[in-house]
Amino acid sequence: MRACAAGFIALTTLPFIAPGAIARAADRLTGPAIDGYGPAGRASRAGMACAIAAALLHGAARAQTPRQPDPAIAQAVSQVSPDRLRATDERLVAFGTRNTFSETSPAGRGVFAARDWIAGQFRAIAAGTGGRMTVALDEYVQHADGKRVPRDVKISSVVATLRGDEPGGRTYVMSSHYDSRNTDDADGTRDAPGADDNGSGTAAVLEAARVLAGTHPHATIVFATYDAEEQGLFGSAHHAAALRAAGADVQGDLNNDIIGASAGDRGPTDAGFVRIFSEALPAGADPHRINRLGSENDSPSRELARFAHDVGRLYVPGLDGRLVYRADRFLRGGDQESFTAAGFPAIRFVEPVETFAHQHQDVRVEGGVQYGDLERFMDFAYLAQVTRYNVAVLAALAQGPGRPARAWVSTKELTNDTTLGWTPVAGAARYEVARRRTTDALWTDTTDAGQATGVTLPYSKDDWIFGVRAVDSQGRAGVAAYPAPQR
Ligand SMILES: [Zn+2]
Repeated sequence: MRACAAGFIALTTLPFIAPGAIARAADRLTGPAIDGYGPAGRASRAGMACAIAAALLHGAARAQTPRQPDPAIAQAVSQVSPDRLRATDERLVAFGTRNTFSETSPAGRGVFAARDWIAGQFRAIAAGTGGRMTVALDEYVQHADGKRVPRDVKISSVVATLRGDEPGGRTYVMSSHYDSRNTDDADGTRDAPGADDNGSGTAAVLEAARVLAGTHPHATIVFATYDAEEQGLFGSAHHAAALRAAGADVQGDLNNDIIGASAGDRGPTDAGFVRIFSEALPAGADPHRINRLGSENDSPSRELARFAHDVGRLYVPGLDGRLVYRADRFLRGGDQESFTAAGFPAIRFVEPVETFAHQHQDVRVEGGVQYGDLERFMDFAYLAQVTRYNVAVLAALAQGPGRPARAWVSTKELTNDTTLGWTPVAGAARYEVARRRTTDALWTDTTDAGQATGVTLPYSKDDWIFGVRAVDSQGRAGVAAYPAPQR
């Protein structure tokens, strides 16, 4: 207990800690008022006071140290190849159309020819993983609805799963849709090249699977290329519902859809950023309660977006992740919404500025304007940057610790400090409490809470927003959990 004693001694020199603060904090954390407290909550009062003291000491004495890149993750990021991305995208375009209703096209053309090729690519990647990666089709028949589905049609998505080595089934998904469309979303005959929408995302998912197949993640990574996004997110909705029904612990979906062009309607633009969309209110949330708490900017998806921003900056400094506080763009949606609808955190990557003449359009020249989603509008150096960003975020998620299943802030009494608790996270060496002012977009400060699963901080819960995250023995941090009030 020498560290504990040192903690108490040092605390006497810290001006912000009132006499008795540690004992009061221990009372709060071990008392019956906080329901469902984890194993640490059943520890002795003395032990808890010790842990809290240590956390207070660390928080006060340690400056926030910038995280260092993990060499294994940096290595995976460095293997992303713009040439392979180009080759994949060209191959996908060469199927002529990948419209969901092109499934009975002649050999070499259509959505199922593309599906079979994608599955073959995944199988070739999986062959080098000693059985850790498996490839499957997620299929069902979507029945005619008299609207966007004029006839019964088989939906067939390709899903590759790289199994993690930890128990518990923690899972992350990198998704895209491989189907395409032209002006008529039920036209299975005429060309729909879909180079950017969404050959780009499909190429990124295949490339990420390639460079991560050689790694040994702790969590399971699912690489998904969905069918029938263009008819209403059907493929992803079916898969997300299946994951939910199977009880999968999906802690994040990174959806990639239209990520391959750096020049948009406004001409060449700053290619130094990618947009990251995330929803405000999670499925089933009570907007009145969220309004009262001021937690409208802290959905699990938003915390995932912040995590992606921080990790991306560390590993791909040339590409800024620009957070957009919206589920998606106006008049548009994406497969990430199937995950949020199923109760899983999800974000969507989109290129900086879109060209709407290239999306969902018949290939044609009209009024001197080239319409259609053609290869020549792609920027594979840019697509490689977005792919690197995804690889870094996926690897950091799967190699690092998960987020606390539950975190809470004690609102039992009126105080000007903040007492937090959280459930333990497997693989955590310690915990951090991130915080920001209510008007800030990103975390600005961090306090090291040591190994305790609770801490009292000398910052008012009325003025700050907190997030609790686990850190492993290598210094890799997980996604922050927003602490819910608990009386
Ligand atoms: Zn799309």
